Amino acid sequence: MIFLDAAATTPVRREVLDAMWPYLTGEFGNPSSHHSLGESAARALADARASAAAVLGCRPGEVTFTSGGTEADNLAVKGVALARQAADPKLNRVVISAVEHPAVEESARYLERFHGFTVDVVPVDSTAQVTPEALAEVLRPETALVSVMYANNEVGTIQPIARLAAVARERGIAFHTDAVQAAGWLPLDTKSLGVDAMSISGHKLGAPKGCGLLYVRSRVRLEPVIHGGGQERGRRSGTENVAGAVGLATALALAQARQRDQQARVAALRDTFISTVLSTVPGAILTGHPADRLPSVASFCFPGTSGESVLLELERQGVVCSSGSACAAGSDAPSPVLTALGIPAEVAQTAVRFSFDTSVTNEDLESAARAVTTAVASVRTLGTG
Ligand code: PLP
Repeated sequence: MIFLDAAATTPVRREVLDAMWPYLTGEFGNPSSHHSLGESAARALADARASAAAVLGCRPGEVTFTSGGTEADNLAVKGVALARQAADPKLNRVVISAVEHPAVEESARYLERFHGFTVDVVPVDSTAQVTPEALAEVLRPETALVSVMYANNEVGTIQPIARLAAVARERGIAFHTDAVQAAGWLPLDTKSLGVDAMSISGHKLGAPKGCGLLYVRSRVRLEPVIHGGGQERGRRSGTENVAGAVGLATALALAQARQRDQQARVAALRDTFISTVLSTVPGAILTGHPADRLPSVASFCFPGTSGESVLLELERQGVVCSSGSACAAGSDAPSPVLTALGIPAEVAQTAVRFSFDTSVTNEDLESAARAVTTAVASVRTLGTG
């Protein structure tokens, strides 16, 4: 099987599992316990926090461990907006981009339904990018928070985060970015990016599902979303997932080290794959930005098919990928991300995403490109589109 669905999830890396193992077995303590087992778990958690903070260029106290990207996004959007509204009731608007993951979009809609916020959606251009000018246009004196993702999960487009964050900062507005897909591929230094909050998820990086983190700049106030025993400096109650935090920190450090030498290699393979597919599959359309895209994502529409049928045909040929984002799987409505790019609904339904990690080889992608040509032709011939 050729696995080209790494943007959905990745297997746990051996080094990550090895680092986690002690905290799942002999060193199983609760970090809040006042005995040696508890203290050892608390030390592991502190080390994981310091290691993650080193990758993010921030202070350990600015890192909150969560149960994944979804929780980190919820905490950022609800937590920052509600804390700002509590300090100044006039701050009752949030801005999100038109291509956010549901974890951000639904958090913003929750604020609208239950806390009197208005959600302003900043449009994207046909490559899925938000321009600083478009962002500036939707900002109001009442805007509490802006949330724009670092890289898109469906089409791989990278946003000019440092420039967008600067637009918000000039107006004293907090800026959050969902870096779930960017982590492992793009620089994560929070100071150079100029962001106030940033979400990361473990399972896209070779750590297990169910662990993530939220960076929040120290002077930014945050209202907790999960209440209880006050763990994570009161920002996220619940007994800490020590092994998960250790795994995430290990995966982040490994990804950071690998980023420098693998990025160019994977991007070159992606470009060859994209041009092969575009030249061998009649009518194939590349979605997302032609250059500002994750090295790991190639996404297309194949008009005259259905993405689901192409996916099934590809799986029969041993290639596993995704027909849109995994989170939207099961629904046959066209992806709102693709329609936000101006792609007509009937074309958006033909979307297929190939995403890979650093283990991808040229042979994998050559075989995959051949499989795509056959799969699209056969779906078109059979009329299963
Ligand atoms: N944000 C983006 C951009 C994602 O791609 C995903 C997962 O697909 C998430 C958030 C959610 O992360 P998690 O699966 O860890 O909850």
